[in-house]
Amino acid sequence: MSLSITIPLSATIKPKAAKSVKPLTTKQKRDLNKVDPLLLDILSTKRPTNNPVQNLAYITKLLGSLNICYSVDKNLNTTVSIGESKSCFTSHTDTVDNKTGNNRLVLNANILSVHGGGILGADCGSGIYIMLKMILANVPGLYVFFATEEQGRIGSEAYTMPLTIERCISFDRKGLDNLITHQMCEKGCSDDFANAFINTFELPYKKDPTGSFTDSYSFFQTVPECINLSVGYYGQHSKHETQDIEHLEKLVQACINMPWETLPTVRDPAEVVYDDWQNMPFNYQGYKLPSLSEADRVEKFVRDNPLIVAQVLIEYGITLADLQAYKAEDEYLNGGA
Ligand SMILES: [Zn+2]
Repeated sequence: MSLSITIPLSATIKPKAAKSVKPLTTKQKRDLNKVDPLLLDILSTKRPTNNPVQNLAYITKLLGSLNICYSVDKNLNTTVSIGESKSCFTSHTDTVDNKTGNNRLVLNANILSVHGGGILGADCGSGIYIMLKMILANVPGLYVFFATEEQGRIGSEAYTMPLTIERCISFDRKGLDNLITHQMCEKGCSDDFANAFINTFELPYKKDPTGSFTDSYSFFQTVPECINLSVGYYGQHSKHETQDIEHLEKLVQACINMPWETLPTVRDPAEVVYDDWQNMPFNYQGYKLPSLSEADRVEKFVRDNPLIVAQVLIEYGITLADLQAYKAEDEYLNGGA
């Protein structure tokens, strides 16, 4: 039996010409003054997912510089606890980048991006920013900065959530108004919780069942109410990633003003409810939903079972060099980073 993919020969792959990027103009430099220096610091620092120790060093140094007390667990997750609370807020310290170093940022109108293109790391740097602003505003909560989400939620899967926590809120969704109620087709929060959130939150968020997954998915079986919220980034996992900073600042304020502790706790986490939205042509709001392709399903399997997939590849004679050559050709053809 052979695989249907064609393994490219490394020798045929042409190296990409190095792209020269013009320096920032005086106006572009001045425009960056409109952005909170804390956000600039987070998004200027590359935090590659394959370097969790450096990512931990980054977040702990940042918390220290803000005089915020924190603790670190053996899985490199960093937690901050403010007051008495049933709410856990989450973001992750890694990005899909594979390099260390700095991003040169540029602001066009209210859209922040990497000058000349690149992974901005607003997924999930913007979530880190929101949580830091909430901590600095003394909003009660358990704040967890998870390690290595981009490799299949390694940090959150290993984390033991305190029994006192009744809701888990992740800040890790593209767009401007999604209240993600389902991840991987599984229901993570009750309708009562979602409706109460929508009725109380200052911004017009809407229920959306089309979530893939982020760290709050790791707690569907232990924490009653688990959601994910849009933070205003787009083009995540690509060199075209952007962040709407106007939305981000409105979201920060709404999260600071939100009476989180008044939200109801209804869902029984032991009860698993699936929403097979990928098989329905329309959802209850009448718009067409995206269907999960075979590639999406395979990707999920690979994320959930990386060791099995590695074994299969080795058994079929696919070497690391083959995979690297395949990736290089893919990046060359698609203009990836
Ligand atoms: Zn993310």
